[in-house]
Amino acid sequence: MLMMKDIVKSYESGGEEQTVLDHVNFSVEKGEFVSILGPSGSGKSTMMNIIGCLDVPTSGEYFLNGREIENLDEVTLAKIRNQEIGFIFQSFQLLPRSTIVENVELPLMYAKVHAKERRERAVEILTRMGLGEKIDYYPNQLSGGQQQRVAICRAVITQPSILLADEPTGALDQKTGKQVMELFKELNDEGRTIIMITHDANIAKHAHRIVKILDGKLSEGVLEDA
Ligand code: ATP
Ligand code: MG
Repeated sequence: MLMMKDIVKSYESGGEEQTVLDHVNFSVEKGEFVSILGPSGSGKSTMMNIIGCLDVPTSGEYFLNGREIENLDEVTLAKIRNQEIGFIFQSFQLLPRSTIVENVELPLMYAKVHAKERRERAVEILTRMGLGEKIDYYPNQLSGGQQQRVAICRAVITQPSILLADEPTGALDQKTGKQVMELFKELNDEGRTIIMITHDANIAKHAHRIVKILDGKLSEGVLEDA
């Protein structure tokens, strides 16, 4: 469902070229739960941004659901980002002046789903996630774990083919982080493809496959020196 071929991403700074992704080859099949594990500065978010069509590589090819991303126009890319990919971030990134249910509805609004159906679907998923009592609250009235659950509701509401999570437990305590991982496992059992990036080996091991990244180079394998 996703394939990166020989991806290079480099930046020019002060006349010097810095290679952040160094000939990366990476594929994910439908239904996988993969984590990308690496230390700070290793290139994880850069890779995530390319996977999520938020950024483009300097060279190499990236295919998502059968299309080569380089060939697509901005309107198509925006649609892919809204409907085919569910983003989950460390800092939740909920809109502070919108209620919980309004936050969750947002991707459906972009997708031009009718208001009544939007509200029904948002309430349904929030209820399923144990947040049915909180739909009219604002984000700052919720705990971190609850806010991340809201962000997960928002990410899955369009039924995206891929969930992309960048350090999803980074702002949570251990117990709450583990609950979020349980939730990811449930979503994966329901058939959702999940790609999660983290610097934490204890979080990474919840996935079925771990890919390590160091200085922009990818390696698949065991966790002995993580
Ligand atoms: P962290 O765990 O701290 O989030 P990361 O693995 O996500 O780290 P990236 O954000 O992918 O790391 O950054 C990798 C490298 O690329 C860093 O050295 C960073 O300085 C560099 N980099 C990222 N974005 C840019 C940019 N827009 N311009 C120049 N350099 C950049
Ligand atoms: Mg990062």
